Amino acid sequence: MVIKRLLIANRGEIAVRVIRTARRMGVETVAVFSEADRGAMHVRHADHAVLLGPADAKLSYLDGNRVIQAARDTQADAIHPGYGFLSENAKFAADCAHEGLIFVGPPAAAIEAMGSKSEAKAVMERAGVPIVPGYHGEMQDPAFLKRKAYEIGYPVLIKAVLGGGGKGMRRVDRVLDFDEALAAARREAAAAFGDGRVLVEKFIQQPRHIEIQVFADGKGSAVSLHERDCSVQRRHQKVMEEAPAPGMTPQLRAAMGKAATRAAQAVGYVGAGTVEFIVSGGALDENAFYFMEMNTRLQVEHPVTELVSGFDLVEWQLRVAAGEALPAGEPRPPRGHAVEVRLYAEDPDNNFLPSAGRIAALEFGEGVRVDAGVEPGDEVSPHYDPMIAKLIAHGDDRDTAFEKLRTALSQTVAIGPRTNLPFLSAIVTHPEVLSGQHDTGFVDRHLAELTGGSVSNAAVADAAAALIIPVHSQRSARAGGYDDPFDAQDGFRLSGDGGFDVPIMVDGDFQLARLGAGAQGLSVALGGVVAEPGRTKLIEADGDVFAIEAGRAVRVSLVDQLSRSADDDMDTGAHAPMHGRIVEIYAQVGVPFAAGDKLYAIEAMKMEHVVRASRPGVVRDVLAQAGAQVAEGAEVVALDHDTAGEKTASEKTTSEKTAD
Ligand code: ADP
Repeated sequence: MVIKRLLIANRGEIAVRVIRTARRMGVETVAVFSEADRGAMHVRHADHAVLLGPADAKLSYLDGNRVIQAARDTQADAIHPGYGFLSENAKFAADCAHEGLIFVGPPAAAIEAMGSKSEAKAVMERAGVPIVPGYHGEMQDPAFLKRKAYEIGYPVLIKAVLGGGGKGMRRVDRVLDFDEALAAARREAAAAFGDGRVLVEKFIQQPRHIEIQVFADGKGSAVSLHERDCSVQRRHQKVMEEAPAPGMTPQLRAAMGKAATRAAQAVGYVGAGTVEFIVSGGALDENAFYFMEMNTRLQVEHPVTELVSGFDLVEWQLRVAAGEALPAGEPRPPRGHAVEVRLYAEDPDNNFLPSAGRIAALEFGEGVRVDAGVEPGDEVSPHYDPMIAKLIAHGDDRDTAFEKLRTALSQTVAIGPRTNLPFLSAIVTHPEVLSGQHDTGFVDRHLAELTGGSVSNAAVADAAAALIIPVHSQRSARAGGYDDPFDAQDGFRLSGDGGFDVPIMVDGDFQLARLGAGAQGLSVALGGVVAEPGRTKLIEADGDVFAIEAGRAVRVSLVDQLSRSADDDMDTGAHAPMHGRIVEIYAQVGVPFAAGDKLYAIEAMKMEHVVRASRPGVVRDVLAQAGAQVAEGAEVVALDHDTAGEKTASEKTTSEKTAD
């Protein structure tokens, strides 16, 4: 192996995954990291690590010069870019070559050729790769484009030539709407890409996204490692991927594989790449698949291909980059079935808003491959893609693979930031997905079914019981009798039936649990549902109890701090109540404060929140600076409270609208 030391210009799960293969091959690894990623999982796993710069990716992970300098400083001989960041940056690939570093990826020219939609389409057309029928030329006269749309046949799709992320894209169903849609697409494209040029193509009905993994060794050999189906998408972002594609025939596979390797050869491709096609749904048709784009890097969803092909794609990337040839002969057909989902720190019930913060608990179900980027105790950084892990199941057939994934997801626990775990569970149990009938519109059509929902009263009652009963059993034991918790002078309110209402917080909402005593001992009920030991999966973390149901985790905490042990609560207010930017820090090291004094102000979503002390104490340390971005739960100030001071549920936060 020519490569002795490999720098991985990435972070998170992909960096960890590349390190794993490099280590197995005896290649030393160098991680790079930003200030936000000090001690991150990929840094812990690498043999060496180099600080690149601040959290802002432009000044760290995206700064090609710093990455190359880090490779020089550590005498690395190769750079693996992962996906995202610099992976499809032609200049970076060229700079690496110029510095005598091996870029683990295609030549800069191949990256360049696939950059523009219409240029890539022109290259493919010349190479005989089927493209969506349409007009991809230079003429931009509205009347001309309208005539083209008529010739293509409605519905059509107008797309920005330099488009990405679905911007500048308009579906037009009838000639009447064409002019307006064209004007809108142009405006959007000009605003987003500084270029209003568009192309017009046929809108493919019931579109399925099927892509082909290709591998070329630069010695004339280019092979297809078959397809992945990535039709479960939300806003053109993949959510679930599988191989093989449901309904795939050997004839179509062969035809697509041939087109994809032709595409790779047309641009002088070397290494791992993916050719994306759009295929008309229903019965897959050998004559109805069309080139969309080529991704000139390793993809997030490559593990499904690894599981059905038996290939380690990262190993082959390194071998090919080091000048080795691919094994002779055609790759065998896919073996069994593999399916992957991406576990994200985001809130599907709140428009998929990214979530951040410390992972309090993280356990994965068994029987699946897990590619994780964080471990329990780590932060999901607000600065980068909030992926936690990928879960990939493999089975002899599709049903078995899905069954394994469902089981693993049901056993998976991710606590801290909000996650899309319930959303993923809903997808892999949905009849349309299980029957393989879905197209790229599936998630949008079923969004209401796939999101929302809540943890049952029974589960919350079980969590409340786990918090309340031990405290009261202890107290009554101290008081001399098990069944005598009701003497405690702790502010619980007596209600009509002889029970007590115990205030609890359920994911930040105030609720009352009912504590009762009977022949069996203490019991807790919520909304009339009585807690039962052993019924619900409960996880204790950060002093609270989480009830887990169908992948959804609800945090249950006691409101009345008198019912907690004395030192549980020493540092409330020290932790940021939300992800945001610190506006100002009022607390000073060594300076005493009184209840109600301002500790710091944090800005999130254009709102400024002032965090105040709820009880007196002294500032032990200030751990963040004004201007810094902090994650929810991050320690901002360390406080020593006067133990004699009065305690309330948490430090009080008041909100004021910021100036602009
Ligand atoms: P972008 O680069 O803006 O993401 P793409 O060309 O990659 O745009 O297309 C994004 C998504 O839009 C595809 O995954 C597919 O779901 C849909 N799409 C693209 N072209 C068509 C088409 N001709 N017909 C139907 N759907 C399409």
